[in-house]
Amino acid sequence: MPNSLPEVTAHRMDELVTALGEVGEQPGGGLIRFMYDDAWRTAGELVARWMGEAGLQVRTDAAGNVFGRLPGSESQSTVLTGSHIDTVRLGGRYDGALGILTGLAAIEALIRTCGRPRKSLELVALCEEESSRFAANFFGSRAMLGMISADEPESLRDADGVTLASAMTRVGLDPTTIGSARRNDVEAFVELHIEQGRVLQDEGSQIGIVSAITGLRWFDVAVSGRADHAGATPMNLRRDAMQGAAEMTQAVTTLVEAEGWPAVVTCGAWQVLPGGVNIVPERVTFSIDLRHPQESTLERLAGLIRRECVWIATRRALAVGINDTKCVPPAPMDESMQKLVKQAAEEHGVSARPIPSGAGHDSQMWAPHVPTAMIFVPSVDGRSHCPEEYTSAEECAMGASVLASTLRKLAY
Ligand SMILES: [Zn+2]
Repeated sequence: MPNSLPEVTAHRMDELVTALGEVGEQPGGGLIRFMYDDAWRTAGELVARWMGEAGLQVRTDAAGNVFGRLPGSESQSTVLTGSHIDTVRLGGRYDGALGILTGLAAIEALIRTCGRPRKSLELVALCEEESSRFAANFFGSRAMLGMISADEPESLRDADGVTLASAMTRVGLDPTTIGSARRNDVEAFVELHIEQGRVLQDEGSQIGIVSAITGLRWFDVAVSGRADHAGATPMNLRRDAMQGAAEMTQAVTTLVEAEGWPAVVTCGAWQVLPGGVNIVPERVTFSIDLRHPQESTLERLAGLIRRECVWIATRRALAVGINDTKCVPPAPMDESMQKLVKQAAEEHGVSARPIPSGAGHDSQMWAPHVPTAMIFVPSVDGRSHCPEEYTSAEECAMGASVLASTLRKLAY
């Protein structure tokens, strides 16, 4: 292995982030690049052009994932890096895009310093991660992993009623060939992403090595009491569903606050019936979104939450029903891959700390199948999914250099 370190410059990162950041930019600020729309297509073409200029073999698969491949000299197995090219509505320039751009700059640096790899090295711009247009979460990664059911392209529709299949056809993709996107040659996946929180910034760490991607549990809680006159019913005779639900959300919040970070809970969707100013609420439903990167903790907190809600309902003579609506297990990242990233950071003199990811990422799809690592770079003030998303070009370059050295350890 050659001794010179692959280094990415801040200038190169600035150039790439600025150019891709203009694709899909809205007049009032913020990006919109939804899967298979015009900006999405333009962004893919731009990345494909850069891949070609870097000397990579460029290809688009049946799902619309764009690849740049640097063939290995010995083995047919592939070390894959990249992230998603789609954005949320009025998102920023970094979420997803930075994993593609740092991957490109890292491979450029590797070609300069180390030449041809032993294993094939491939960069991917994944077509979809955010579910912004279709409820097709992780569509790009799922296509590559053979996890798209045959009827999915025909059954999913966007807000205008357009099926995923016809959106694919419009950009020249054939939905019936989606199965051909499956890959069996990937032996490692590395994704760089912005942190989307402020742990790295607050602790002055230059990169985060993701230990696990959080798991989540969603519940719908339905609290039932009795509608009564707001003036004539004394407080002690009420069965007020809202008072019960309010006490429940407070208890749940206190419990998770006591557990401490990275446990988080959100009660974000509420419905109060009958919803009159002068009527004691009869029925309240609210959502609970509970997250933690360890299954055992998630399980324990979920049990405590159920117990609190039932206890509060009983004390207030209310009925409560708690339904599980979604369950995503935590995705631990590969330990030996985490060590490689740590060594790569040390080689570059970049400070690193382990960190759980509170947000979902493509890596959680890959982790159960191939050794997977995630590198986080700091997000200024922890902002993301908004136009204010920002990571300095210097920090992007540091992340890209660590990514390059990690890929060198895997592919050379
Ligand atoms: Zn993302």
